[in-house]
Amino acid sequence: MARIRSKNTKPELAVRSLVHRMGYRFRIHRKDLPGSPDLVFPSLKKAIFIHGCFWHAHDGCSTANKPKTRASYWNEKFARNKQRDRRNASALRRAGWSVATIWECEAKSADFVCKKVSRFLSSTKGRE
Ligand SMILES: [Zn+2]
Repeated sequence: MARIRSKNTKPELAVRSLVHRMGYRFRIHRKDLPGSPDLVFPSLKKAIFIHGCFWHAHDGCSTANKPKTRASYWNEKFARNKQRDRRNASALRRAGWSVATIWECEAKSADFVCKKVSRFLSSTKGRE
């Protein structure tokens, strides 16, 4: 099966240009890191994933409506995706990275993204 996350999606591009305008330098899709995070800040050892609400089954999110047909097929698929997300995030944390997720629905608000990103990037919690 093809990869689950498509690259350069609309929310991803929106977050990228916003973070860029905030003055942060980052790399994208570092393939040498677990899950190849969407935004990577090497000097801060921080990584951000931008998750589509549908594929990553955002809990309680209205844009993550599950398909009505073939429910068990989809539930299994979503469970696998979530499990993979968790595995990637914990592998990164074990390697000393801080990890944040921005959901597709959150990415619609520039204000929200700004606040979340600056809080995440300025925090020193969990760093040596
Ligand atoms: Zn969502």
